[in-house]
Amino acid sequence: MNNPYQLFIDGVWRDGSDGTRVPVINPATEEAFAEVCWGTPEDANLALDAAERALSGEWSTWSPTRRGRFLFAVAASVRRNAAKLAVLFSQEHGKPPHQAAGELEDAARYLEYFGGLADKLSGLTIDLGRGQLDYVLREPLGVTVHIAPWNYPLDIFCRSVAPALAAGNTCVVKPAEEISLVTLALTRLFQEEGIPAGVLNVIPGSGSVLGPVLTEDPRVRGIVFTGSVVTGRKVLQSAARNITPVVSMELGGKAASLVFVKDASELDGPAGGAAGAMAWNAGQSCGQRSRWYVRRDLYEPFIEKVIERVRGLRVGPFTEPGVQLGPLVSKKHYDNVMNYIRIGIEEGARLIAGGGRPEGVGDKGYFVAPTVFADCNNRMRIVREEIFGPVITIIPVDSLDEALALANDNMFGLSSEIWTSDITIAHSVAAKLDVGHVTINGSAAFGFEVPFGGVKQSGLGREGGPEAILAYTRLKNVWINLK
Ligand code: NAD
Repeated sequence: MNNPYQLFIDGVWRDGSDGTRVPVINPATEEAFAEVCWGTPEDANLALDAAERALSGEWSTWSPTRRGRFLFAVAASVRRNAAKLAVLFSQEHGKPPHQAAGELEDAARYLEYFGGLADKLSGLTIDLGRGQLDYVLREPLGVTVHIAPWNYPLDIFCRSVAPALAAGNTCVVKPAEEISLVTLALTRLFQEEGIPAGVLNVIPGSGSVLGPVLTEDPRVRGIVFTGSVVTGRKVLQSAARNITPVVSMELGGKAASLVFVKDASELDGPAGGAAGAMAWNAGQSCGQRSRWYVRRDLYEPFIEKVIERVRGLRVGPFTEPGVQLGPLVSKKHYDNVMNYIRIGIEEGARLIAGGGRPEGVGDKGYFVAPTVFADCNNRMRIVREEIFGPVITIIPVDSLDEALALANDNMFGLSSEIWTSDITIAHSVAAKLDVGHVTINGSAAFGFEVPFGGVKQSGLGREGGPEAILAYTRLKNVWINLK
């Protein structure tokens, strides 16, 4: 890629119309290592023009099979370029190499999954009796706008752009301010594989400037938004202006984990899960298990095991071998997480691990030690609000009913889990958790083949799974008088 990284509009790489360039900071060193051009409202309009024109251009001649094969080709290219892209990703985001590589593989799998569905969409006929023919066409929505956050930029890019393209739409993508280089680098692979001009446009820049332009334009026929609840509300208000369909809104989460194993001998799994909740993506995950409701007889043994696991976590820059937990994405977010740690202490939670900068990382980089608060309760802000960092809370409970009531007592409803070897308990808890996604004895099953999304203020719609692609289509009914 060229540095500065440019906007991709109508098949051409270009600077933003006002020439703004923004330094890109490596969160492990706090040093700028690249520059990215930011778009203006004028550029957003150019991208929408291009996306609209592309709907009736070459793209409209591509069969579903060709669109599917194209997405497979991009997936193969992602894999061929994975080593190079992973370094850029770690440099920009701070993720340790295995996590950057894992997300690139996820991106490739989204492309393949939805590429495979491209030629499986169909309409239907409806029998209205003699003398009439009624059929239903399944058509693409048209121009779709995709607004992404910074935490899983490639996953989230591919999980919406892949079904949108598979179904024949065109896309205008706005990556997050914090992370756009990897999205632009992936876009180049779409270009190299021959995507027609205007089908995919990517404009980095300020959300508050570009967001309203993209979401209030009447040419837009579908909006996909992933980000915070606060911004999600603004996007819904913008969409209301033209009654633009919102394909999906994936907002925040505050996932609960219920620890109800038989006895202390079965605590390795949940303690590993708790450590993973801090290490994976430095806790910057919407599905992070951040509230641990632990049956009282297991409570102190669980705390001991978690502390043991936390001691074993290696924190540092991606350049150090064996690192499991990288820095947070930005100074702003680092300050935010550190502030929550202060709030937790003020609220009277018992700090049993971490609580500030980790030892041995020096004074540069947005590193936060894996932090565990025990003796928490549901009134505390650290239990109620999304911290989005390597911080978890532990709460003792006396019964499963109490744990369920506390788990459901939250504005979010994205995902939650239970640890138990009792199959009856597992199924009954899965039925009672008020979330879109439940896991039992682990938290691996996200994305691709399964529907993922939330209830309550965690959002609407589902990404992944065979039905997700249908949201990128609209139905048109045709009736013919045969008499
Ligand atoms: P954010 O809401 O600050 O930003 C998300 C995107 O919205 C960015 O691209 C931003 O530039 C843009 N934006 C800002 N103002 C806008 C406006 N007025 N109109 C349109 N777009 C605008 O969120 P973030 O801090 O980047 O991401 C973190 C949040 O995302 C967390 O709450 C997290 O839980 C959530 N998230 C959810 C999922 C999920 O699948 N449920 C996945 C990842 C992240």
